This record gives sequence, structure tokens and C-alpha cells, in this order.
Amino acid sequence: MTSLLEPGTTTDRAVRLRAEHRARWGADPALVGRAPGRVNLIGEHTDYNGGLVLPVALPHSTLVSLSPRDDGRVRVASLQAEGVFEAQLDDVGPGTVDGWAAYAAGVLWALDEQGVTVPGVDLLVDSTVPLGAGLSSSAALECAVAVAVTALVGGDLSPAGRRRLAAACVRAESEVAGAPTGGMDQAVSLLAEPGAALLLDFDTADGSVGDLRHVELGLERAGLALLVTDTRVSHALVDGGYGDRRAECGRAAEALGVDSLRRADLAGVEALPDPLLRRRARHVVGEVQRVSGVVEAVTAGDWGTVGRAFVASHASMRDDFEISCAELDLAVATAVEAGALGARMTGGGFGGSSVALVPADRVEAVVAAVQRAFADAGHRAPLHLMATPSAAADLV
Ligand code: ADP
Ligand code: MG
Repeated sequence: MTSLLEPGTTTDRAVRLRAEHRARWGADPALVGRAPGRVNLIGEHTDYNGGLVLPVALPHSTLVSLSPRDDGRVRVASLQAEGVFEAQLDDVGPGTVDGWAAYAAGVLWALDEQGVTVPGVDLLVDSTVPLGAGLSSSAALECAVAVAVTALVGGDLSPAGRRRLAAACVRAESEVAGAPTGGMDQAVSLLAEPGAALLLDFDTADGSVGDLRHVELGLERAGLALLVTDTRVSHALVDGGYGDRRAECGRAAEALGVDSLRRADLAGVEALPDPLLRRRARHVVGEVQRVSGVVEAVTAGDWGTVGRAFVASHASMRDDFEISCAELDLAVATAVEAGALGARMTGGGFGGSSVALVPADRVEAVVAAVQRAFADAGHRAPLHLMATPSAAADLV
């Protein structure tokens, strides 16, 4: 099969990373943490509206090797990025770390804020999650650091402890890396179970993750697979898109007189006088209903309904929420034409990845069709990966 991005074998990757760590930092790592990327099956732009999301953890993951230091310094390097970050741990915090290292060093700061006594550390990062593809390499990096440091200090890796770690990782990303994030990515990376999706409910007073439930998928038994296509495009011109949509949803909720769009109903939304706010709210209200519908259909083994919900979700993001782009529309339409039960863009939008629900014996045909369609349209060749629902972050 062509152009499938492999997750790599964790134990082999860890052996190589330990050797690199020794060569670079001059000490054997005390331990190696691993955390997965994720793909959201359905529920887009619903998290900050008090809604539902349904991500799965990818087999593709980020490894972080760690050796402690006794001088309170922190050094971070990555096999995927240039440069070494080095600072005194006490100097790490919001506004003090530039570039990619903020995602790693920010976690040390956020754990310290939670009262964890974090020692100086040398860290080395290696990932098979594509960076910036909407598959959450950022949360994978944060969560791998969080798990490694927590194990080093003998901290709590129970489900409750993992929720606290997820909160620390969210603070690292929003406050130190300066990228607002809703909490889905960190929760699924730290709490996923193999074979299952994670239903997360954001209907909480402060907008953080509330109730959660593992939804067994049984994909293999159903002869199905999840195929992710990374379009490798990021439309920089619309970088403000995420903030704009958040603000529009806030205005729609205000016009409807509700705290969040989770409290809105479709009849009220259709009566909104402003056509733009009406379309934005219609996406959110419909999308939350589609997440519930997908969970019910999965439980009933009704995969046709799941596929149709994917297609409806994509149309809603394309037409009402206006966060798709030509490459995503092409990947989705081609996958469905080539035999997928359904497909949709996934992640924040304006580029990134799509996810398709495909009969296992059609995967190769779908990959070939999407490659051909992109070549014919003059787009850069996309990448593909199999999103086999995988385990949460842990030590290797
Ligand atoms: P996504 O999370 O969808 O991959 P983001 O923009 O949220 O996209 O996060 C990507 C950023 O995270 C990268 O640009 C980089 O700054 C940082 N990052 C993630 N993984 C790594 C890595 N392995 N090495 C260095 N930086 C990384
Ligand atoms: Mg991210």
C-alpha cells in the first residue's frame, strides 16, 4: 500500500530515542513517556459551546525521554525541530518561552502551578504524529511530558490524576504556548482506551471537560477502518477563523438569551434574524445532535447512520460554519465516491485533515482515488494514516 504514514513500533522507537538522549545529553534517560495524537470523529467547534465531542486516540504518538538534573535547569530538544531550549526552571512561564519548546516547558510550569515539585530535567522529543495537521501533535507533546514528569516524581496516574494532568497541559498550551485550546485533545490523549472513542461533555460552568464515557467501537468486527487524510494545507490567510467563529457563537448565544449554544434549540435558531449567526448556531446545535446520534448508532451497530452523520457534519461545516476548503471538500467527496460510508473534515478547519469510515477492503481504493483526485486538481499529494483507536498516554 502506498503513502500510509506508519505509527512505528513504540519499543523500537524508544530504544532509538534512549540512544539519542544519551548522545545528546550525556546521561541515560530515567524514563520515556508516550502520548498519542487524536482524531475527532464528530463534534467540531462544539467544545467551547458547552457541547459534545467524540475523539479517538491515534496509534501515532510522541515519545519524550527524560533525565533529571540537580541544578534546576531545563533543556529541551526535538528530533522534529531545530534548536535547543535551555533555561532555569524558575524562569519558565507565560511569555518567557518562544516557539515549539513552549509546549514542553509550559507543562513543567503548569505542574509547578498545581503544587508538584518539578526538578530540573533534560528532555528529548520524537513524534510520529504529523505536526500541524489537526491531529494534535501539540497535546501529544504536552501529555508525554506530563506523564514522564509525573512518573518521575511518583505522582498520580489514576483517572483522576490524569484529569488534573490534562488541565495542566491545557494551561501550558493556552498560557505558555499562547494557543487557546478547548481541552478535548489533552483529555483523549490521557484518558482514551484502545478500541474505543471518548465521548466528552463540555457542559460545565467553566467550559472544561465534564462527564466522559468510553464508547466501544468494534470497528474490526464490523470490517471497518478509520482512514485519515492529511491534506497538508493550512490556509494562513484565515488564521483568525477560529477566534471569529468563537465570537460569532457567543453573539448567537447572546441573541438567543442562553449561556451557551448547548442550551439553544433548532426552532429558536431558525428564528434568529441575523442570517450569519443563524447559520453558525445551526451548525453547533445540529452537530451536538449528530454526536449523540453517532453514539447511539455505534452502540446499535448501525454504521450506515454513522456514515450519513459524517457526511451531514461535513456539509454543515462547509456551508453553515464555513470552515472547510477546496482540498478538504475534495478529500471527503472522493472518499465517499470510492466507497467510504461517510467522511468529514476534522479539527478546527481551513486545512488539516479529514476522516473517513471505510470498509477495510476498500481502504486501498480510497487512498488511490484521493491521491489521483489531488494530482488531477493540482494539489500537493496528501498523506494518509490508519486511525486504529489506541491507548492513552503512559510510560513506555
Ligand atoms: P496540531 O496539534 O494539530 O499538530 P498545533 O499547531 O496545535 O497543531 O501544534 C503543532 C505545534 O506543536 C508545532 O508547530 C510545534 O510547535 C509543536 N510540536 C508538536 N510536536 C512537536 C515535536 N515532535 N517537536 C517539536 N515541536 C512539536
Ligand atoms: Mg494542537
